[in-house]
Amino acid sequence: MTKKIGIIADSQFYDHRALIPVAECPERLRRIYFNIRKPEFQNFLRFYPPRSATMEELLAIHSSFYMEQLRIHCVGKSQFAYDKDTYLMEDSFYTAGLAVGGCLTLADALLADEIDYGFALVRPPGHHAEAGRGMGFCIFNNIAATAAYLRDHYGLERILVFDFDAHHCNGTQEIFYGDDRVLVFSIHQANLFPSWSGLVGEVGAGRGTGYNINIPVYPAFGDTEYNCLLGKVLQEVICQYRPQIMLVSAGFDGHIHDTISRLCLSTEWYASVTRTLKHYCREYSANKLIYVLEGGYNLQYLEESVTAVLKAMAESVDDKIGYPFSPRAHELIRNELVPALGFKWAL
Ligand SMILES: [Zn+2]
Repeated sequence: MTKKIGIIADSQFYDHRALIPVAECPERLRRIYFNIRKPEFQNFLRFYPPRSATMEELLAIHSSFYMEQLRIHCVGKSQFAYDKDTYLMEDSFYTAGLAVGGCLTLADALLADEIDYGFALVRPPGHHAEAGRGMGFCIFNNIAATAAYLRDHYGLERILVFDFDAHHCNGTQEIFYGDDRVLVFSIHQANLFPSWSGLVGEVGAGRGTGYNINIPVYPAFGDTEYNCLLGKVLQEVICQYRPQIMLVSAGFDGHIHDTISRLCLSTEWYASVTRTLKHYCREYSANKLIYVLEGGYNLQYLEESVTAVLKAMAESVDDKIGYPFSPRAHELIRNELVPALGFKWAL
């Protein structure tokens, strides 16, 4: 049976824009929105209007000092005065709040069983935004706010955030570093932005120890290496953690044609990882899955990959999912992941 997929897509997300050409631009969404309005998508997509996040919902993950800084810089003279990448203008605060609120709208719809899965097609992205500062195009941390909302309002105690963006989710990691109720699992290109975070040894602190998992991979890793790593490591972790919901920071900048990284993932990989995650969700979890858009800067392949994901989401769940063997991936597991995480997870 075709699955029902909740979508957040709203032209108000175009209102945050730089005056000079930048990679993180409204066109990223415009092309996707145009495509998903075609008749072939209408029998399985369900569109929800986003709401604005409340100040309480933002303060659950960000500091009031940062809120104040944002307010000042949004009306400042230069768009790039706050950060060299993270431009701010008059509409930025509202638009970023709407991106968070859109994710929460989707979370409510999923927990009310109105939809099978969700994809928040929002911008600006969020996974680099820390409690006290924005960076890397990210203003509010959309996925972290969603996890905090599910934890605080629905009382969920095992939330898995899986991030396959090419960059490390330093913000999401920082916000939940001491929390075992949100397990942050990231696979990303090593030493890409931000170069100071995303190491294997960053495993969490206090009661969160063991609940932060980083897999920094070498440039040129592609479909086979990723599938081997996820088949072995992510599957084991999900099996043992038994998350009540899985939130996916879906960044498409690891695509072979996206020049911001040197990863070699194909469009088909984004579809296949979606099938895999759906299978894991059904087998080892409460079958709840939401994607939130992060990066992806090659407009053509971003659109193509998002479309592939939506079509894979709509399919019925595969009963069997295998994974290939990759010597390079196995070496990484044996030499780096097991020594760092073996105390917590049987890998
Ligand atoms: Zn990225």
